[in-house]
Amino acid sequence: MGQGTEVLVVGGGPAGLAAAIAVRKKGFRVTVADGEKPPIDKACGEGLLPGTLAGLRELGVTIHAAEGQIFRGIRFIDETTTAEASFSRENGIGVRRTLLHKKMVERARDCGVDLLWNTPVTGLSRDGAFLAGRVFPAKWIIGADGIHSRVRRWCGLDASLRGDVRFAQRRHHRVKPWTDCVEVHWGRKMQAYVTPLANQETCVVLISRDPRMRFAGALKKFPKLAANLSDGQLSSVERGATTAMCELARVYCGNVALLGDASGSVDAITGEGLGLSFRQALALADALETGKLEKYQSVHRRLARRPNVMARLLLLLDRSGPLRRRVLRGLAKDPGVFGRVLALHTKENSSAFLAETTVRFGWRLITA
Ligand SMILES: Cc1cc2nc3c(=O)[nH]c(=O)nc-3n(C[C@H](O)[C@H](O)[C@H](O)COP(=O)(O)OP(=O)(O)OC[C@H]3O[C@@H](n4cnc5c(N)ncnc54)[C@H](O)[C@@H]3O)c2cc1C
Repeated sequence: MGQGTEVLVVGGGPAGLAAAIAVRKKGFRVTVADGEKPPIDKACGEGLLPGTLAGLRELGVTIHAAEGQIFRGIRFIDETTTAEASFSRENGIGVRRTLLHKKMVERARDCGVDLLWNTPVTGLSRDGAFLAGRVFPAKWIIGADGIHSRVRRWCGLDASLRGDVRFAQRRHHRVKPWTDCVEVHWGRKMQAYVTPLANQETCVVLISRDPRMRFAGALKKFPKLAANLSDGQLSSVERGATTAMCELARVYCGNVALLGDASGSVDAITGEGLGLSFRQALALADALETGKLEKYQSVHRRLARRPNVMARLLLLLDRSGPLRRRVLRGLAKDPGVFGRVLALHTKENSSAFLAETTVRFGWRLITA
């Protein structure tokens, strides 16, 4: 298992690989240890928003249009209303999670990152971490071990965890995508999230607060969607996952920093988890270069602010049917205002833009 490393990344999912690439580019020796082996799959909506693609490019990972399916915006659909908006500059791409993982692994390997698969980390020690029962020395440790992070627990950072948990099921259908947008179908306290992936493949995720929710039963509550999917066979096994709104008071402790879902997460409905973790990875690499993790803490807090606000707004629509119907009617009447909300969601904008959008959105709500 070698002599140890300067930076040990626990978890080789998208966040861990992004951190490994960004930190390696700063000149550190980096090792990633993951308990599984690639390509690692996970229940995910598989929609890469424009900001997520920009983060990947900064890491040197390019997803070509032919590797997935381009989508031009977001469409909200409920029993009576359809509202949609396009991204202002760049499109998004739907891509299978396993392909994204493969491409990130290749990039990490090309950068010179040491990759240890089938290697669970079982604890932290004073000088590093326990891998396969032996201490693996490391100066810095990055905990990128996902939403149920053990690194977070070992560091005592769980104490500040506050969460709002929901449950998701994902399926791939061998169906030609009928949509050029990511579709969010709003049902009663449940959403279906549809991402076009390829010529003959569509990803569907159902999300609800009910842990007993299963795909077949829940899909019946979305008859239009069920009709679109009725011709297709499944092209993957059904996979479940939890998604949560989690905020931590601190994301580092001593020489250990948390990243990605381990460092707090936004509900899957935002489609923001991957993009957020890529931006965190770049910020963490900057902080490690100066040796000051407190700098990472403040950037991490700032990066989480916008996705957190958007997620809370969307969860409000999940909780209140009357509010959701009113909002969808307002957005359908004024696609311009929906476009502005989308622009706020997918990229930083000026406070003047935020203020004007809030006023227009408020007016649409009153008159809807
Ligand atoms: C239903 C659903 C839909 C989503 N849809 C989207 C979407 O459309 N777009 C988007 O951007 N985001 C989406 N997200 C969010 C996105 O999937 C997550 O934010 C992202 O997976 C976080 O990556 P991660 O690397 O932090 O965690 P993970 O992907 O969970 O990776 C953690 C890794 O750590 C490893 N690990 C765990 N414990 C150990 C250990 N002790 N030792 C070694 N390795 C360990 C695991 O094997 C795993 O590989 C969705 C999430 C859900 C649940």
